[in-house]
Amino acid sequence: MRKILLAGNWKMYKGIKETEIFIKELKEEIDEEIFEKSDIAICPPFTSLYIASNLLKDSKIFLGAQNVFYEKEGAYTGEISPKMLKEIGVKYVIVGHSERREIGKEDDEMIAKKVKAVIDEDMIPILCVGEKLEEREKGIEKEIVEKQIISGLKFVNEKDEFVIAYEPVWAIGTGKTATPEIAGEMQGFIRKKIGEIFGKDKAEKTRILYGGSIKPENIEELIKHPEIDGGLIGGASLKKESFLSIIKNSIRSLK
Ligand code: PEP
Repeated sequence: MRKILLAGNWKMYKGIKETEIFIKELKEEIDEEIFEKSDIAICPPFTSLYIASNLLKDSKIFLGAQNVFYEKEGAYTGEISPKMLKEIGVKYVIVGHSERREIGKEDDEMIAKKVKAVIDEDMIPILCVGEKLEEREKGIEKEIVEKQIISGLKFVNEKDEFVIAYEPVWAIGTGKTATPEIAGEMQGFIRKKIGEIFGKDKAEKTRILYGGSIKPENIEELIKHPEIDGGLIGGASLKKESFLSIIKNSIRSLK
């Protein structure tokens, strides 16, 4: 049985004060049953990571980062290394989010190096993959995702832990959630590809999340799908009430 992971991607929202308020309130409302059945992570922006790390020291909520650079240190103005993230207690690092592929012009080679660099620091990359609307309309969505999986994982070994997030670009921040059937079909395809690369055993152990307009109202049916092992949640993770409802509804659907 794969333990579900629910990770909140705060994007470029929440400075130090808002982070502090959110975490203090969230900690009070998450109980042991939630931690037994799921892993919970929040991914604040870089400047809020340190305060978040201090506030989460006595908690089972994991800390995640939204991006990273692939070198350990050096003349890379504006970048943050995996070692720096590790030092402040980061466990998960989102790599290859579509907003970074699109706005930051990150290519497959760079994403593959980042995935490897995160693993080398004993953290867990959440590799994001997903097709754009026009690619789905052309019927090439599987080709696109297959390429992203093969290239993103090219420096990874079978023993390395990684998480995949299937995030169709047309579903991110648009309010258009993929149906459990659409997400589940692609996630089954991704699992098959992981099996071809690393073997069936690894594929069965690997968590594949869905991301794209998850809300408290749609998480239950998504989580019920056997191929969906949790969610990467953007907009709906910014309000404590909706993030908490997503967590509680997910747990309910596991019962
Ligand atoms: C995301 O940013 O990874 C995401 C899935 O965003 P949203 O939930 O807002 O669609």
